[in-house]
Amino acid sequence: MIDTQLPFIDLHRHLEGCVRLETMLALAEQHSLQLPGNTVDALHPHVVLAGPQADLVGFLDRLKWMIFVLRDPDACRRIAYECVQDSAAEGLDYLELRFSPLFMAQPHGLNPADVTAAVIDGAKAAERDFGLTTRLIGIMSRTFGPESCLAELEALLEHRHELRALDLAGDEARWPGELYYEHFKRGRDAGWQVTVHAGEAGGAANVRYAIEHLGATRIGHGIRAIDDPSLIELIAHRGIGLEVNLTSNLQTNTVQTLTTHPLASFLQNNLLASINTDDPIISGIDLHYEFHEAAPTAGITPALAKRAQENALATAFLSPSERQTILQRKAAKQSPTP
Ligand SMILES: [Zn+2]
Repeated sequence: MIDTQLPFIDLHRHLEGCVRLETMLALAEQHSLQLPGNTVDALHPHVVLAGPQADLVGFLDRLKWMIFVLRDPDACRRIAYECVQDSAAEGLDYLELRFSPLFMAQPHGLNPADVTAAVIDGAKAAERDFGLTTRLIGIMSRTFGPESCLAELEALLEHRHELRALDLAGDEARWPGELYYEHFKRGRDAGWQVTVHAGEAGGAANVRYAIEHLGATRIGHGIRAIDDPSLIELIAHRGIGLEVNLTSNLQTNTVQTLTTHPLASFLQNNLLASINTDDPIISGIDLHYEFHEAAPTAGITPALAKRAQENALATAFLSPSERQTILQRKAAKQSPTP
């Protein structure tokens, strides 16, 4: 299901959802923090999902143990480094990694700007060490409210040149995009691209608002767009990228079954939808699983999977020359020099 001629890309991966369990244990020991288990096996059921949760909030609750071990900026640097390292080992050719500095800072009262600096530093070091091209996306955690998100935005803006895009994540049902209009205006003025979590726990109107008013050129999930034919037309017309995460959608009850997931319909209608992981360790998956197991269950044929790979490259937050470099490096990997 994976076309090995095309770059293998994840555009939607949360740093806070890919912390190694071994690292959680090591950080907990280092800082005398109490986790619900002292071994990987004992910790596993508290962190990794075995089945669907009641809703998105139930899913997000799992993240709390992963951020609980972030006692200092060094810990933030370490998890960023290891996430890029693990993504390289997974065989990715390009990664867009996103994180919310306020969410990460919150359990132990860290400074969100320090968290941002540490994540950037860790990701860059791993990019150098493991050769995986990585770009970072700053998230505002909508669940903290517009005022706190303004502080989070300030922390991200201190490092504006190291970030590619601004995102909004968290409890979509209670905190709609309308509350964050000014935030995204400032983000766009800073030269960032925009992607917004929408149409996951909320309806099609949230997707439309993100595109028409927040300047989103990509949407995280966008599943409920399927309910509004005129919105599907808008997404097609504007070439909006849809970052789809199949297993995550099942686990958050965004879809009841993968067989009814709209991804196949998106791809058949030539929307620029891609296949991504969201929170690989929480979900107990990787991108191979999403292509080989989840996608076929969702009715994705090899031809549609190839289109999803092409769409990921087309909608990546890269300049044309950076995109070309990703392609050239992939081609070089395919034909090793004698
Ligand atoms: Zn997400």
